Amino acid sequence: MAILKVARLGHPVLRKVAEQVPLAELRSPRIQSFIDDMVETMREYNGAGLAATQVHTLKQVAVIEVLENPRYPGAPSIPLTVIVNPQVTPLTQEMEEDWEGCLSIPDLRGKVPRYTAVTLQALDRHGEPMNLTAKDFFARVIQHETDHLNGIVYLDRMKNFATLTHLAEWNKYWLGSPERDD
Ligand SMILES: [Zn+2]
Repeated sequence: MAILKVARLGHPVLRKVAEQVPLAELRSPRIQSFIDDMVETMREYNGAGLAATQVHTLKQVAVIEVLENPRYPGAPSIPLTVIVNPQVTPLTQEMEEDWEGCLSIPDLRGKVPRYTAVTLQALDRHGEPMNLTAKDFFARVIQHETDHLNGIVYLDRMKNFATLTHLAEWNKYWLGSPERDD
């Protein structure tokens, strides 16, 4: 296992579209160990999610996990979810704005409109089909990560930059929201 280097905004890799992973390749030890490294990297940097694009790999793979945090009682937790070749479909026209951060855009937070419910069709890490409905925070993280696989970052989704905030100021003026970097 290894902690991978995370690309920061400005690195061209973040603007590229990732390729689908064929089943045979997904099951290879190389990709399996890459997925382990992605999970380790996400945990190391305390991210809620990480897309392969962010670690310089143009493959349609993302990992998501939010563990119970005693500092944020009641915050939603999401078990470790590995998604491969995801297709996301909004289940509603309704969008909600909430804070997001990104491991590739350090020290900033901004309010981003996202669909409040989506369906996710993907493969799991073993190549088994996954079909789930996600709401609210989980839906938000799925949209954030799948955007990365299409070369899109959360700044692109903001209505404007009026809420864009440095982390220190966010902690001072806006803390109370449990969002973490994706
Ligand atoms: Zn991100």
